[in-house]
Amino acid sequence: MNNQEWTQEGQKYVMNTYGRLPLAIVRGKGAVVWDADGKEYLDFVAGIAVNNLGHCHPKVVQAVKDQAETLLHCSNLYWIEPQIKLAKMLVNNSCFDKVFFCNSGGEANEGAIKLARKYAKKHMGTDKYEIITMKQSFHGRTLATLTATGQEKYHQGYEPLPAGFSYSPFNDLEALKKNIGPHTCAVLLEPVQGEGGVVPGQDDFIKGVRKLCDENKLLFIVDEVQCGLGRSGKLFAYEHYDIEPDIMTLAKALGGGAPIGALLAKEEVAGAFQPGDHAATFGGNPLVTAAGVATLTVMLEEDLAQNAHMAGEYFICKLEALKKKYPFIKEIRGKGLMIGVECEKEVAGIINDCLAKGLLILSAGPKVLRFLPPLNITFSQIDQAMEILESALAN
Ligand SMILES: *Cc1c(COP(=O)(O)O)cnc(C)c1O
Repeated sequence: MNNQEWTQEGQKYVMNTYGRLPLAIVRGKGAVVWDADGKEYLDFVAGIAVNNLGHCHPKVVQAVKDQAETLLHCSNLYWIEPQIKLAKMLVNNSCFDKVFFCNSGGEANEGAIKLARKYAKKHMGTDKYEIITMKQSFHGRTLATLTATGQEKYHQGYEPLPAGFSYSPFNDLEALKKNIGPHTCAVLLEPVQGEGGVVPGQDDFIKGVRKLCDENKLLFIVDEVQCGLGRSGKLFAYEHYDIEPDIMTLAKALGGGAPIGALLAKEEVAGAFQPGDHAATFGGNPLVTAAGVATLTVMLEEDLAQNAHMAGEYFICKLEALKKKYPFIKEIRGKGLMIGVECEKEVAGIINDCLAKGLLILSAGPKVLRFLPPLNITFSQIDQAMEILESALAN
């Protein structure tokens, strides 16, 4: 079947929740994918920051094959070998002590909200439950995480929303100070905002949040579902700021394409969960955690965070040159290979033009182009993408 036939079939049978482009991606290798018509694309979307190793990395494919032949699922009634291995790797490479596995970013944040509330009830008082999140943030689509998301468009139609959230402008420490109230128990933020327009947290802001949380005995939760796992140029984005959060959530890139989420916490905080307090049937199942172990191993062995840092600098340099030529480019921002280009006009046309010319990119809001290539992208692939982008901008 070709793109058009898949599009028709999809429209007939699949719920209409995504604004999809009229093509089916059927195969991928490294930074390249192919559609159902056989057309090739350079992939600077990477499954929205999922395929950080590129598509079908041979070590991840082998791990999934081996695990599929050994044990697909057994439940968390028992210890699961690759789950323990992945938890150990995450602990040994972060400031956290304990890991809970789930299936997505939204579910990881849902777990973080529950953990913060449970911890607060035990250690702060029964009237502590409110979580302050940032405007323009994105934390997921479950009822609690869409409420945590500081963007009205995600709330509309789902009222009544769960209570216990308030919103503060990102990168504004004074406003956050004023927002802390008698019920506040935690601050939740993305160190680099993704969906909200690719906005990095400023150094003094993130450090200031840590200090405010210490002074007011609040938990500091970072959502690294998009910016974590090498994407920002460090393994975890909080490392840019020389601070240690109390809780962190991960998902997207953790399984190299396999659906997995994780909630990490400091020992004392993690202790607020006792058997029976939180669970997920598929959470940390053998298949996805085997994929996770392979993914994280490659990420560390090949130091992809460092590559993201260097490739990101090269990429931004190239974009700055374009900014000089095209005055409708307002701002270029990001960290590592999480890059946003804010324009004065809507960017849907540019994205479609790139698609037609064989480059996949995405947006972050109507006026921001977003680039999330695999972390092992080469300079020559960046050059190739820039050529296509420039011809789309010139149109
Ligand atoms: C994608 C994303 C989520 C939601 O993850 P899902 O796996 O879609 O539930 C949460 N937070 C951030 C920062 C994200 O980018």
